[in-house]
Amino acid sequence: MSSQTHDPQEGVAAWVPQWDLSNFIDFYPLPTWLYNASRDLGCEVDVASTRFVVRGLVLGAVEFTTAVLTKIGMKPQGLGASTSTESFIAADTWQDVARIATQDRWRVSNLNEDDKEDIRISKWTNEHFADFAAWLVEDKDMTQSFHCTTSIVWCDACNDDLSSPSTPTAAPVVAYTCGICDRGDFDVCHECYVDKGTRCPKAYDCFLRANIGLWYEHNDEDLRELRSAATRGSADRFYKSLRATTNCRTWFASTTGYVGSTSHTTQRGDVVCVLFGARVPFMLRPEPDSRYRLIGDCYVDGMMDGKAVDMWEAGELKLEEFTLC
Ligand SMILES: [Zn+2]
Ligand SMILES: [Zn+2]
Repeated sequence: MSSQTHDPQEGVAAWVPQWDLSNFIDFYPLPTWLYNASRDLGCEVDVASTRFVVRGLVLGAVEFTTAVLTKIGMKPQGLGASTSTESFIAADTWQDVARIATQDRWRVSNLNEDDKEDIRISKWTNEHFADFAAWLVEDKDMTQSFHCTTSIVWCDACNDDLSSPSTPTAAPVVAYTCGICDRGDFDVCHECYVDKGTRCPKAYDCFLRANIGLWYEHNDEDLRELRSAATRGSADRFYKSLRATTNCRTWFASTTGYVGSTSHTTQRGDVVCVLFGARVPFMLRPEPDSRYRLIGDCYVDGMMDGKAVDMWEAGELKLEEFTLC
């Protein structure tokens, strides 16, 4: 999966891989070997006709997407609660924030590294939290609230720091990045790229890159917990995981209370589905004629190991068919 799929208007189905993006790897799909969202229920695909039909379970529709993941305390909502007017996703604890931020993965590898250390955090929850705390407090005086995005980006044209907005913003921090010059050594802000027409000196096309982040709301008690854990953690290890799990993604909350991360192209109204035969959930967009467009894979907290199948068997979810376009 790429962070963007074909637009059906192009005359190419959204689920057809974008082969022309094959040399750009600054986006990391969810690792299918780590999860089993449909619990080995076989793939049910109907391709006998000219339609591509898949079957699966609907977890809900996207209520909002946001660039901000935070801990409760700032906003009076629990994990996954609807926060449509404020558009923040609030977890109950910093452990929840750390887990959701890295898709429940420990030492996330990317395509340049060995896969072997990319496992679930369950056995490593304390170590993972220590790494998160070390990353959060590193190089900061921690006396006030702050917003941290997951990678540091400066505009190479106007030298604006794009990565540290002074207030939490629901919109992702967007940069246009040259995917060919040393993988992102050319980054420009929206204004320089779109309004002023700034381009990479080598004249390559740039890719849109969206950075999401976390909001730390200052609190003495939290700070004591974070500082204490940080002494045992590796900021660098957490940062590497975060780069791979948040790049070109957005946080989302569903109408039914699920939260997670998915492609930054996701919009309100997209449908979160567990498709039979797929090890990770997918985001589908309703289109005219009862068809659905494939938007991307998604991490849904708590639903990565087959819980949707249990709910279906208990009569809480019903089997549906999706014709993909
Ligand atoms: Zn700029
Ligand atoms: Zn370039």
